[in-house]
Amino acid sequence: MDHRRGLMLILSSPSGAGKTTLTRMLLQQPDLDLKLSISVTTRKRRSSEADGIHYHFIDQEAFFRLRDSGDLLEQAEVHGNFYGTPRKWVEERLSQGRDVLFDIDYQGARQVREKAPRDVVTIFILPPSMRELRARLERRAEDSSETIEKRLAAARNEIDRWTDYDYVLVNEDIQTTFDDLTAIVRAERLRRPRIAAGMGEFVAGLLAEEG
Ligand code: 5GP
Repeated sequence: MDHRRGLMLILSSPSGAGKTTLTRMLLQQPDLDLKLSISVTTRKRRSSEADGIHYHFIDQEAFFRLRDSGDLLEQAEVHGNFYGTPRKWVEERLSQGRDVLFDIDYQGARQVREKAPRDVVTIFILPPSMRELRARLERRAEDSSETIEKRLAAARNEIDRWTDYDYVLVNEDIQTTFDDLTAIVRAERLRRPRIAAGMGEFVAGLLAEEG
């Protein structure tokens, strides 16, 4: 019964809602066997980031080349920078029946859902309050105050998109949110359309048994 189709699990949230920490926790949970899709971006690398691990950092010219040659599964402009998902790596992994985690915004989520509606699960993470969101952005202290203000304004716009998503979690407590996320992944993996191929064989075998 292991002929399951790979699942695209999309996590979106305004910056500062805890999505990066939750993504790391999901990737570190060995039995979930999740891998993160590494986006390309034209944003400048933060000091804590490594090329090829957090993003592939590229210039605009390279980005437009990828986009125009159809090598991106989805792409969007976010806070004045371009971001996109390289298509090939994702398709290879899905074809092995393995799941892929995406940390992309609502514009990207919409594009991926349009392309593969049956294989996509979308989850939106909300901060418990705007005050907490600001505190988290300031604690991170990696961005300038101008960037923080820009991100807070953008957060209001992003939060408004919550109704586009399959699941919405309020991240009051990171462990509780993580437990909810793992429950979603495990349940979504068991949905009948995703296991139909392997399960058909199993059920045929069951029915063929003398009982
Ligand atoms: P950051 O610059 O803080 O790493 O990310 C800013 C926003 O861009 C986040 O909401 C993140 O989810 C989104 N993002 C990152 N990579 C991609 C991508 O490949 N496509 C889209 N549509 N959004 C992305």
